[in-house]
Parts: sequence; structure tokens; C-alpha cells
Amino acid sequence: MELGNYMAYELIEKIRAKEITISEIIQSSFDKIDEIDQYIHSFVNYSREKALEKAKEYDNKLKNGQGHGKLYGLPFANKDLICLKNFSTTCCSRILEGFQPPYNAFVIERLVEQEGAIHIGNTNMDEFAMGSSTESSCYGPTFNPWDIERVSGGSSGGSATSIASGQAILALGSDTGGSIRCPASFTGVVGLKPTYGRVSRYGLIAFANSLDQIGPITKCVHDAALMLEIISGKDPLDSTSVDIRVDNYTEEIKKTVDNKVLGIPKEFFGEGINSAVRNSVEKAIGKLESLGATTVEVTIPHLEYTVATYYLICMCEASSNLARYDGIRYGKITDDLSGDIFDAFRKTRGENFGPEVRRRIFLGTYALSAGYYDMFYLKALKVRSLIKKDFVEAFKKCDSIVCPTMPITAFKIGELIDNPLKMYAIDILTCPVNLAGLPALSIPCGFDNNNLPIGFQIIGDYFDEKGILNIGYQLEQELGIYRKRPPIIKGGL
Ligand code: GLN
Repeated sequence: MELGNYMAYELIEKIRAKEITISEIIQSSFDKIDEIDQYIHSFVNYSREKALEKAKEYDNKLKNGQGHGKLYGLPFANKDLICLKNFSTTCCSRILEGFQPPYNAFVIERLVEQEGAIHIGNTNMDEFAMGSSTESSCYGPTFNPWDIERVSGGSSGGSATSIASGQAILALGSDTGGSIRCPASFTGVVGLKPTYGRVSRYGLIAFANSLDQIGPITKCVHDAALMLEIISGKDPLDSTSVDIRVDNYTEEIKKTVDNKVLGIPKEFFGEGINSAVRNSVEKAIGKLESLGATTVEVTIPHLEYTVATYYLICMCEASSNLARYDGIRYGKITDDLSGDIFDAFRKTRGENFGPEVRRRIFLGTYALSAGYYDMFYLKALKVRSLIKKDFVEAFKKCDSIVCPTMPITAFKIGELIDNPLKMYAIDILTCPVNLAGLPALSIPCGFDNNNLPIGFQIIGDYFDEKGILNIGYQLEQELGIYRKRPPIIKGGL
């Protein structure tokens, strides 16, 4: 059985109809991992024995007529920065080697404990989620299943490739400036960044608190809607989570889109957008028009400042968040304790953080220091308000905004890693969404000349996940390419 050819909702039907057992599904997940993970490196740790045991237990329960939640034992891949009780969770950083959280994140409680998803392993990511290529992981990069010489995108690269290559059916990522949508776009899967506050961040190891959100990565919009229904909602343990109605997304997606007004922000189609990406996204907009949606031009005048603003804010927050990893409160302490305590801090952090994380701590600390705070951090906060205002104005004219997810398709391993400014620049279309705190969905809309997937981004107004999932679902059905699988999976479209 090729897991990659099935959607989560289809497998749930099959399990219910007793056409397949949960054990068979979990086994095929590990068969795929054994076959291809050596080439793509989606995972950094597995929970094989426990997963197979759980599958047996759930199969027995099913036989006795007892259900176990909405997710029926489906294989679930967790990004290595979402806390899973008594399971190694490292943010793909040496500093957290050996760390096992003593509690589950809110989203794990919901997906695994409450609704019966089976955790099969933790996925590879950029160290502390800082990156767009999954190359800064201390375990080495993840490779794109469409072309293993190319990056998977990042930072949730492993979660995206685990879905694209049929190793898992459900995955979680986190998105601070694009980390769900970028790898979803590069690997041809669906990624959703919810509104800030829609999903509890309790148990998410923080990178930049005012931007971070957890969200689903799946093969189709229906599955993302299903996961969002489960992980959304107020959590008293995260004061930024919002007590607001959670819609029935799996039903909402089926509505027509003939009454929708789509905003097209001209700045998102400017210079630097690869022509294959532009053509494919424009074609997809045409499809939405053929379904009855209308379009209107909108403007986000401060787009050109978003990359600078985003990187200032995220580095400042990161420098503060990562102060806890000193080898005493958190983190693996240096072996060389010959000096004083400050020496020990310096060595611990110097030895165990990678170059990208160190760069961000330096720059963030500098920007926050006395005398520079107003010039950099405060200024960035002011520009952030302007960017937010741009979106508020745009949503007066339209229901959702449509544009590319990434300006380019997956690039070669090693191509940008030594050029941080170029790497940062490719976040231009994703990070404004985090600065404004809005929800956004990425779905595959086509392929370039190298047969690499292209991502289509739908940005929604605050808490309008149902609107963007609806548009995404109707477009996905119309395009009909969401069953196309990378060459390493047999039997795809
Ligand atoms: N690429 C962005 C960065 O490097 C976004 C990362 C993320 O969303 N976690 O910060």
C-alpha cells in the first residue's frame, strides 16, 4: 500500500468500513520510511515500537466496537519543536540534545491523546525554526522528494516531505515567517498558518512569540480543515489563544465561491517573482474566476519593508527567548568547566548553537541594546503597525487575498545557505502575514519546467480560516493536481 496515494479522510472511511486495519497503515508508514528516508531525511527520531503497539491496541478496540477519536490511528509526524511527553524534542539543535519534555503540547493532547492520531516520529527542521530550507538543522538537511538535489523549504521541511512522500498522513509545522507555507509550496502539499491566537502555542518551543503559530501540513485541503477543527480553540495555558467560535471547516469548504471577492495585491506580483510561478498563479486565479469569484486590485504599500521589519522583530524576540539555554536552566552544558560561570555560559552556547542561530542572537541582542532599541526595535514595531493597517484597508475591498506563496520554486542544496540576505529575501510574500497576524493557506497550483511544485497562497481576514479553506478546496478540486505525487511514489496521478 502506498500511503502517499491516500488522503486522511479516505483512510478514515476505509478503517471504518473495516477494509483496512490501523496496523496495516502504520506498518506501511514505516515501510516507506525504511525505503526512502535515507534519501530524503524527513525524520530525526521515530517512535516505531510504541506506534505499532498503539495500532494493535486501537485495532482491538475497533473490533470491540469502541472508537478512538476522529483520527482513527492515522500516522502523524510532529515537528521537532512541539513538546511530546518523554520523547526527544530538540528543535534540531545540539543545545537540546537529550531533552525530553515532561508534558505534552496542547496540540498533541488534542491530536494524539484525544482524537487518536498515532505519533510515528519527529521531523527535521531548521535549527530553532530559523531558516527557509531545513539546511541549518544540526542533523543535516532534508531533501526534496521531487528532486533530491534540492531543498525541501523550511523550516518545517521534514513535516512537509513526510507528507509529500507518503511517510505520514498528518503533520504539524510551525510558522513564524512562512515555515509551514514555504515547505508546503516547495514540496507540493497543503500548509495552513492559522490566525495568531487560533491555536494554542502551549508546548511550542518559542522562536518569536509574537509571530509563532502552529498549523497543519497535509496532502489536501479537506485534511487540513479536519486537523484545524481539532487543534483550534481557547487554552487557559496560552493567554494569547482566543476564545472565538471554531467553525465546522470540513463542511464550510464545500460551499461555492461564486460570491467571493479576491484581492490581488500588485506588489506581490512585482519583480523577483519567477515567471513560471507568476504564470501558474495567474492561471489559478483564472480558474477561480471561472468558478464565479471576482477579482479586485488591492495594495499593500509597505510590502517592501516587511523583510527588514520581520527579521528585526524575530531576531530581537529570539535573542531574548534563547537566553534560557545556558546549560543550567536548559540545554546541554559544555564539558569544559575549567573557567568561571560566564566562561561556562559562553562555551555552552558557542559550542552548541549553529551559525544561523548565533547570527540572530548577536543581531537581536544588538538591536535591543540601550541606545539602539528606539532606532531598530521600536521602529520595526511602528512599521509593523503600518503593514497591519495595509491589510486592514485591503480587506475592506475583498474577502481574501490571493498571490504566490514563494517567489521561486525549490532551489539547490547549498545555493543560498551562505548568503543569508538572499535567503531572507525569499520570505517576502509569507512574512507580512505573520507581522499582521493573519491566517494563510498554501496549496499546490502547478509545476515549473523542472517539474517542481508551485504554491498558491490565500490570505484571509482575521479568524476567517473557513473562507480561505473554502477557496483553497474549490480551487484544488478544479485544478485536479493534488493527487500528483513525486517520482519516488508509484501509482500517483
Ligand atoms: N524563514 C523565516 C526565518 O528564517 C521563517 C521561519 C519560520 O517561519 N519559523 O525566520
